[in-house]
Amino acid sequence: MKEKRAQLKEIYTAFDADTRDQVKGCACTRGCSFCCSQAGSIDITTLEGMAIREVMDKLPKSRQKTLTKAFRKEIKLREAGKAAPCPFLMKNNACMIYEDRPFSCRRIYSAHVCSQDAPPAVSRRVMERAAQTIAALQKLDNTGYSGHLSYILYMLSVPAFLKTYTAGEFKPEEIMEFGKAHRIVINRMMG
Ligand code: SF4
Repeated sequence: MKEKRAQLKEIYTAFDADTRDQVKGCACTRGCSFCCSQAGSIDITTLEGMAIREVMDKLPKSRQKTLTKAFRKEIKLREAGKAAPCPFLMKNNACMIYEDRPFSCRRIYSAHVCSQDAPPAVSRRVMERAAQTIAALQKLDNTGYSGHLSYILYMLSVPAFLKTYTAGEFKPEEIMEFGKAHRIVINRMMG
């Protein structure tokens, strides 16, 4: 798992290096939270979820409790078909886990300032490179799954699932019902 986590960082770094020229001069600024509050789905792999859990475990207990409530609320809003801001988005519009944010957040930028009528504008080259990166992330996490952040973190909070996953076992039948209901995909079936 430690080795895979190191490879995860290498994949992020390679993407950043490869897309630097396209992203340079983009309209994104500190404090803009358009993508964090309007994102349809912030998809992550289970391996990314493990990295995020580790960051969450180091937060003060009070903040962990607030986050647990925020995730419950976000799931309720999503299931009611409403837009829900990411639970990691803070009041000052900064990301609580910025250094460890998942690839879904790293790949998004925009050539113009976004609004409801003007969603992010991303170059085709970056989109293609992002698709390759997602395939690489899913291949790296070949006993895991991909899906919206809140659902993957929920799965990892279930002791039986966590045990199976951290042991490197592959038992998709354990999550079949939950997976179908929440659009969770099996990484090794992708690409
Ligand atoms: S994890 Fe951070 S960057 Fe990603 S959507 Fe949430 S607040 Fe935004």
